[in-house]
Amino acid sequence: MKIGIYGGTFNPPHLGHLAAAQAAVGALGLDRLFIVPASIPPHKELPGDTPGPEHRLAMAEKMADALLMPQVVQLSQMELNRKGKSYTADTLAALREEYPEAELWLLMGTDMFLTLHRWYEPERILNLAGICAFGRTEEDGEEVFAPQREYLEKNFPGARITTITLPDLVDVSSTRLRELLARGEGRDYLHPAVYGYILMNRLYGTCADLKHLDIPELRACSYSMVMQKRVRHIRGTEEEAVRLARRWGADEDHARRAGILHDCTKYLELEEQLELCETYGVELDELEHRAVKLLHSKTGACIARHVFGEPDEVFDAIFWHTTAKENMTTLEKILYVADYMEPNRTFEGVERLRRLAYSNLDAALLLGVETTIQEMKDRSLPVHQSTLRAQAWLRERGVTTEE
Ligand code: ATP
Repeated sequence: MKIGIYGGTFNPPHLGHLAAAQAAVGALGLDRLFIVPASIPPHKELPGDTPGPEHRLAMAEKMADALLMPQVVQLSQMELNRKGKSYTADTLAALREEYPEAELWLLMGTDMFLTLHRWYEPERILNLAGICAFGRTEEDGEEVFAPQREYLEKNFPGARITTITLPDLVDVSSTRLRELLARGEGRDYLHPAVYGYILMNRLYGTCADLKHLDIPELRACSYSMVMQKRVRHIRGTEEEAVRLARRWGADEDHARRAGILHDCTKYLELEEQLELCETYGVELDELEHRAVKLLHSKTGACIARHVFGEPDEVFDAIFWHTTAKENMTTLEKILYVADYMEPNRTFEGVERLRRLAYSNLDAALLLGVETTIQEMKDRSLPVHQSTLRAQAWLRERGVTTEE
């Protein structure tokens, strides 16, 4: 088993870190990559505006999740949990104990590689792990790496050192990024989920007004609240909702914002969902109290309204996007249908739903509602009364699912 260890202060993690982690997994053929945020870095002082460890942990978690390799890339809290300075030698020793058979590889950029011989217990580090070094800028070529590699190999016999070239160089440091963020810039150097987290928690001197975000900022905040594997679906729903709004004469901006935010509370646990419902005064029926899947539409709507200042139209569209109901507005129908048939959906019958969505929106809505009812019956799950009322309402008005 090959294990990579990527340590850093990640204050904040940026696209340079992500590009390096991604490239190292491929180049070394890693079975596991641990991202290890340092608690007290031995090499540098943490600046005064450094967010608390819980924020650095959350951002590093988003960095790991953003690589979309959950079996391989994992976050390790071992340095954050350890008292005192975060010495890499101790981290490697702990990993060696946990994985006695594994081949360990320590990843580092040029700056760290060039100073490695001055770290705490370098001989122990080089004994425990191979070193995988990569350049951070165009200038970091072989002429920079070679002398240090030779020096380390000569002074630490048995040292294993490999250098890799990153396909996507991102010439930025966290220090520079912190300066940019404090001036309201820098988002191009951050993964959207990390950027959204920074905005929502007002880190590094950012002071965005969450109730007046532009679209990229709103997307970033939404993506910061979910697992990254869901982002494709959210993006697909946003785009489908905008196309449907154009087709059926609804407000495109509302459709877009509803699409962006519709699943923002999808990953909250039942307890957290219930707490939000309580906070925002959402009344729940008996089924909703125990069916966590029915709650994210309600809590997502509340977050859209109370945190992001979205208007009633957007609130209502998100509120009803899971169950549907009778007397739906065009925007409510659009979000429900878009969520069902956005381009990433692949279930049997989705093509028919897609055709109907553009020829007869009510028929598409009915098809979605009846597909859900059937699915619930097949799985012996209760159907929500609002969904049954939506079906009855559409049927009473003569809507059918015929093309
Ligand atoms: P700071 O500016 O606060 O010193 P940093 O950007 O160097 O931070 P760290 O968290 O200290 O980030 O870095 C962790 C590891 O990532 C180090 O091995 C570093 O060399 C590497 N690294 C940092 N920035 C980049 C980048 N842009 N490209 C590739 N590797 C990088």
